Order: sequence, then C-alpha cells, then structure tokens
Amino acid sequence: MGVVRRLQARRRYRRMAKALAELDRLDEAQGLGAPLSALPSARPPRPKRRFRLDATVGVALTVVAVFLVLSALRPAPEPAEPVPAESTSLVLPADASDSRILPAVIPGVTGAHAFLATRPDGSAVGFDPCRPIHYVVNPAGMPDGGLEIVRDAVKEVEKATGLAFTEDGVTSEPLIESREPLQPHRYGDRWAPVLVGWATEKEYPLLSADVAGIAGPIPYAPAGPISEYYVSGQVALDSEWFAEAVTHPDGDAAARGVVMHELGHVVGLDHVEEGWEVMNGSSDAVEFGPGDLEGLAAVGSGGCRR
Ligand SMILES: [Zn+2]
Repeated sequence: MGVVRRLQARRRYRRMAKALAELDRLDEAQGLGAPLSALPSARPPRPKRRFRLDATVGVALTVVAVFLVLSALRPAPEPAEPVPAESTSLVLPADASDSRILPAVIPGVTGAHAFLATRPDGSAVGFDPCRPIHYVVNPAGMPDGGLEIVRDAVKEVEKATGLAFTEDGVTSEPLIESREPLQPHRYGDRWAPVLVGWATEKEYPLLSADVAGIAGPIPYAPAGPISEYYVSGQVALDSEWFAEAVTHPDGDAAARGVVMHELGHVVGLDHVEEGWEVMNGSSDAVEFGPGDLEGLAAVGSGGCRR
C-alpha cells in the first residue's frame, strides 16, 4: 500500500446541513493580516523516515456543505439552505464583470461526476464565472509548505473549472461550523472570502480521527432556487494529518490531493464511486480524473449572475 493509499484509505463522506446563521453578526473587529507572500515558504528538508498513520491521524476526506449539519455516511446530497434573499445588495460585487473572467473549459473527457446541488432546470449550482472567487488562508496550524500546497491545488481547480481565484491574504478568522457568510468588520461589504484553515480535532471536532478535511460552499439564491449560486465556502484541514503527511517524500502530492478534493466540494462537486477520481471519497488519486474534469468544467460553466 503506497503512502497515498495509506493517507487516503480511510476517507469518509459526511455532509452537514444547517441553517446559516443570521447575517451581519457583529464580532470583534479583525482585519486581514499580512499578504500571503509574506509568509515563510521555505520548507526544511524532510526526514526520510517511514510515514505511519495511526488511529489518531486520520485521513478521511469529507465533504460537507459548510455550516450544514452532519448526517450519516454517504447520504444522498441534501439541498443546502441558501442565504435569505434580503441580502440583495450583495448580488453584484464591485469586481463582478459582464463576462467570464477566464474562458469556459472544454474538458475533452467524460467520466463519473456528481453535483452537490442542482437548480430546478437541472443545471449544476456553482460559482459565478464572471467574478473572482476570493480566498483567504488562516496560517494557524499550517504545515511546512502548506501555502504552496493550497496554491497548487487552487491552480488545478482554476484550470479545470475556468473559475478565477483571487488570493486575498491571511486572516485570523477561526474555523467554526457556523461560519458567517457576511463579516463586514473583517472583510468589508462583500461576501466573506472562501476560508482555508487547519485545525486539530479538538479545535474543530468535525475533523474526527479519520477525517482529513471538511469543505463545502455557501449558496445564495436571491430569487428562488433557479437563481441559486455559490458565494463563499470553507475548507477545514486536519493540522495533525497534514503535519505528518508533509514529512513523507510522497506526502505533498497526497496533501495537495486532499486540498483538491476539498476545493472540488467548495466549487460544487459531490463524491463519486469511481476510485480513480479525486472526488471519490476513498481514492488515492492525486490528479483529477476524467469525471472530475468533466464535473469541474460543468460547475464552472454557468452564466453571469446579473
Ligand atoms: Zn469529500
């Protein structure tokens, strides 16, 4: 069993569903910190010791729509609850464009894929391709080289979806299960950017012993289900698992694969049964497969939300 399989053999699927908390909750004012480029990126040489997984350093890749409530193993996708329609002032961010930022992707391959949610017309719910997907990183608990792993994974998702990502910097926003989609004190008058962060199981209990990551999007439906699209999301990564993974020579690829899998959820993909796809919940795949690519192109192919 190769390291990747070791790392990912115990992926497990979860999905949460929970009503989003009220908008505009006031909290301690905290702005963005230093740009990500200010973070140390050099990684010390990794010892060539044998990587070992034990019961406390689990690996399951888990999907959830963020802020959604945990249910059973591999349940059928549940419709996420959109943000209330009162937030109409957020329908059109200042950096929204009249047209796609990046060209739509023609995957050229077909394969198994599934969407977390579809609209009544059958189209996949996804992000607006005519505005950037902003993301921030909370470096607390980040492993050596973690920023490069995230950036590489983002690059892969951007390439496969045709959705443009914008790195906004670091944040001190902690991972919480009921993340606020609007945090004007922290991010200004806009949707909170996608949050990527690390935590231990103690800090973020959903990262239980066999869970290496939990992620999902935040939906918004200003005019009912047909208008639903994603405006933000969250990726919670198990800091102990990542710290261990990156000490292994093959660990970076596995770690990147975990982040790719979780970002796949953020942009709207669900699990599939085919083990060669990254979006399989127990696969050792670290590069997107044909089904992943077809699905990612589909969730990135929507029209401008204006
Ligand atoms: Zn998953």
